Formats: sequence, structure tokens, C-alpha cells
Amino acid sequence: MASSFYHSMVPQPTFVPPAQNTVQQESPKEKKKRTRNPENWKKEKRKRAILSGQAYVNTKGELVGPRAIGPDCNCKNKCFTVVSDDNRNAIFNGYYSLNSYDEQNAYLYGLIRRHDIQRKRKPVSERRTCSYKYYVRIKGKELQVCKKAFANIHGISDKKIRTLCIKHEQNILFPRDNRGRHKNRPKKVTPELVTLIKHHILKMLSGPNGSDFIKTDKNQGPDVNISKLHKNFLQQYEPEAIDPESDKVIKDYDAKHRQHLGLLANHMFSRVV
Ligand SMILES: [Zn+2]
Repeated sequence: MASSFYHSMVPQPTFVPPAQNTVQQESPKEKKKRTRNPENWKKEKRKRAILSGQAYVNTKGELVGPRAIGPDCNCKNKCFTVVSDDNRNAIFNGYYSLNSYDEQNAYLYGLIRRHDIQRKRKPVSERRTCSYKYYVRIKGKELQVCKKAFANIHGISDKKIRTLCIKHEQNILFPRDNRGRHKNRPKKVTPELVTLIKHHILKMLSGPNGSDFIKTDKNQGPDVNISKLHKNFLQQYEPEAIDPESDKVIKDYDAKHRQHLGLLANHMFSRVV
């Protein structure tokens, strides 16, 4: 990205008052009559800048520079040679063009794989039991890179990678950033249902019949079969949703959880880009 572009977009480091942690409870009446709120504009602007990797002024009034691809890892695997300059730029730009933190995190999360370290001597050791492999995806193909290259290609910190790795260790299906999420926004699906669906997907896919829920698309390769998972979910939790005659899902039930189920399954397979 050209630096002139940044300069045209980025505000000068002027005084920015610290963000106030006030949760604004809007009543329906107030919602209709929106008042001008320059504080929120600044916040939004900052949020967008952070998300897209551009420079921004933080809450302390300090200018934080734009994200950039870091230096060559110089490791023995020569990650910066394996992943060409063009590809590094494409990955970097693709990452910062994702529309939300959740998408960015899900994208990275899907490229970090955990593998358990076999410890023969001290099986009950409390030391690290997991190690991670890092990948970048180029035209649908995954290439393993070292941790440093993974961080530098995406212009992200070690801390961010560590956070995602911890979530892997907690067996979280997909990471979610809860910063700035409004508590007063009506939820279509309850958290309990989301948990239920998540567990269901995991149980089905890791179970003995897991391969039944995988389909292979000619162009896209293997993918989860959402329809089948959805039907299976309903069979278990809402059997009345299945028409006993046709053995198909009754239309009214079709859209109910399907969207959420699909979203969760896609995140698991991290088909973000
Ligand atoms: Zn490397």
C-alpha cells in the first residue's frame, strides 16, 4: 500500500480524549432520535483503521504506525523464499481486508495447527504439552512456515499468536473477539443454543461416522455437509422438525438454525478467504 494513501487517510496526532467505558443503554425512544456523537465517530474511525492495518491515534493520543510486513525470518527453511514477495503481499492485503476481528481471528486460527508432543519420560509433567505449526494459504494450498514468518507476513505480534494458541488449547472451535460488543443488541440465537450446536458439530465430525458429514466439492475440495449436520441436529434435539413420511426437514424449521450451524461449521474449517 502506498504511503501517500495513508497520509491522506490518517489524522494528525492531535489530542484524543481517552475512551470512556460507559455502556450506553439506549431505550427504543432514544434510538429513533439519534444525536450527534463525535466521540463515537472517532472510535469507529479508529476501529476501522486498526482493522485495516492503517495508522491510527490511540486513546492516549499517540500515533500508532500502520501495519507492515515484517523482516525475513532468516530461518533454515527460508520461509520468505518459499513464500514469494507477491504472495506475501497478497496474504498481508487479504488479511487486512477482512471485515471484522472475528474474521481475522478465525482466519489466523484456521492456519495454526496444534500437535501434541509425545512425552515418554515425564507423562505427568506440567510442562508444555502442545506445539504448533503455522501455515499460509496460497491459492488454496497450504504451506508451512515458521512462527516468525507467520507473524511477520501478517504483520501481527507474537502476543496475538499466543492468544490464539491458548484458545486452541482450550479446544475453542473458533476464537471470538468480544471487545466492543453491545450487550443490548437483541440476540437471535441464545448462547446456550450456540454451545449446543458447537458441541454437536464437534461430536458429529469427530465421531466414528464423521466422514458422513463431509462432502467433496469438485472445485472447492472437502467441505462440511451443512444440510446433513442440520438434519442430524434436528433429529436429535427437535425430532418434530422431521417429516416422518418424507424423512425430510419440514420447511419452517429449515432456516431456523441452519444459518448459525453453517456459520459455525465454516469457521471451524476457516474458509474465510
Ligand atoms: Zn522461517
